[in-house]
Amino acid sequence: MTEPAVASARRFVLEGGTVHDPATGRDGVVADVWVDAGRIVPPPADSTGFERVDVRGRVIMPGGVDLHSHLAGPKVNAGRMLAPQLAAGRRGGCSAAVPTIHATGLLYAALGYTTAFDAAIAPAAAAIAHRELAELPILDRGIYLVAADEADVLAAAAHGDAAELERLLAAGLTAGRGWAIKVANPGGPAFWKRGRRGDHHDLDTLLPGLPATPRQILERLAVAVNTLGLPHPLHVHTANLGLPGNWRTLLETMRSLAGRRAHLAHVQFHSYAGGDLDEDSFGSGVAPLVEFFNVSSDLTLDVGQVLFGGTVAMTADSAAAEHISHATGVPLVSHDSYQAGGCGILPIAYREQNLVHAWQWAIGLEWFLTVDDPWRVALSTDHPNGACFTAYPQLMRLLGDAAYRREAFARIHPAVRSRSPLAGINREYSLQELCTITRAAPARIAGLPRKGQLGPGADADIVVYRTDPDLERMFSLPVRVYKGGELVVEEGELRDHSPGHLLTADANLR
Ligand SMILES: [Zn+2]
Repeated sequence: MTEPAVASARRFVLEGGTVHDPATGRDGVVADVWVDAGRIVPPPADSTGFERVDVRGRVIMPGGVDLHSHLAGPKVNAGRMLAPQLAAGRRGGCSAAVPTIHATGLLYAALGYTTAFDAAIAPAAAAIAHRELAELPILDRGIYLVAADEADVLAAAAHGDAAELERLLAAGLTAGRGWAIKVANPGGPAFWKRGRRGDHHDLDTLLPGLPATPRQILERLAVAVNTLGLPHPLHVHTANLGLPGNWRTLLETMRSLAGRRAHLAHVQFHSYAGGDLDEDSFGSGVAPLVEFFNVSSDLTLDVGQVLFGGTVAMTADSAAAEHISHATGVPLVSHDSYQAGGCGILPIAYREQNLVHAWQWAIGLEWFLTVDDPWRVALSTDHPNGACFTAYPQLMRLLGDAAYRREAFARIHPAVRSRSPLAGINREYSLQELCTITRAAPARIAGLPRKGQLGPGADADIVVYRTDPDLERMFSLPVRVYKGGELVVEEGELRDHSPGHLLTADANLR
């Protein structure tokens, strides 16, 4: 399924580290990790020729997997042009909201991430995205195709022609060399093309000119993707992103999909209560959503956490971009790379004392901290929409250090402090749980059996951390990062930046 790998010839053993590997049940166990030809291997009978690397006292984890990011393609480049001061980026620093493609790979690797997916590439933009991703150093990478916006796909889904829908999705996936199928605002382009801009629909409004509702489109796409046996289930960015009261749409989306494998993208942006953006009305709709999610074992999600600071929002969901632009007064760049309806790009600075931003921050954390099963959650900021991925260590500290989180909470907008359930939540993620949501779970959810784990046969993507009570510092500065058995980063210094591999999936057409 991947392009042919040139296996590393290096043979070595990481000796005496404290291993966190949720997939094999090792939670802080002192163990040796053996590597040969780019893979983890069992302890060999004859260890001659294995370099010994002493990692006693260090924490060992699999390489990080980001299953929802935006790395390439026209909209990301438009974002780089719009915010060159953010794209400039210092080496090892945190200033790049939209780093260049080269810096993106290096900065991810410097944090211990070794695999990342671009979660929204239009089929028409796939060729150019692949040319760009070929320049991405170190990381294994793949793309999710927004195939469900194409007119023929939408028509097949709307008419309930399952065989034709599967054929079109399989053909699109092959042509676009994609890993997964994404739907952004199901059926939205049908409204958009009819000139109903800003006319927000719910899941049960009949699509103009088509004999189906967005809910039916969603269900049929999910069934088709599961029938095709793709590694990752349908990746769902549901309707009404960013709108007050949209928690109901996400709940209905979950109800439609429950009982089937499906992945809900950036749920933070879909969990708002209230009818307006004011202090009395706007708020968190997380509680009923988490209640439903916790008992719906086939569903998985990524959060799309907002963190305070400057970034660039970009979305394939034109209606949402228009709404954000209207709410913030920031002019919108509508990019026409999305055949179906344009996409929106706008610079944004999330501020602690801004009511909406503070709610977004608190709502994302509430999701992380009230979901029961970390195996169904992937850490993400929907880079760069909620924050740059370089802020992941800060997010990990917010989850793993309740005192640090309380300090941050004390600085946000007073209306959010008085009403957010976050005030009463004392949960702290353990190192093992942080390892799960950044490695083991996203690898399993994305459908990558050789990633996110350190059992025999796994890719030798390994990170060595220094134990540190300051989790942000710990996860910002790995001691060593290996990708496919090659040492790529050591104490913040780049050692190797060979490109990784493109991950592509094959559909099983019946
Ligand atoms: Zn996204």
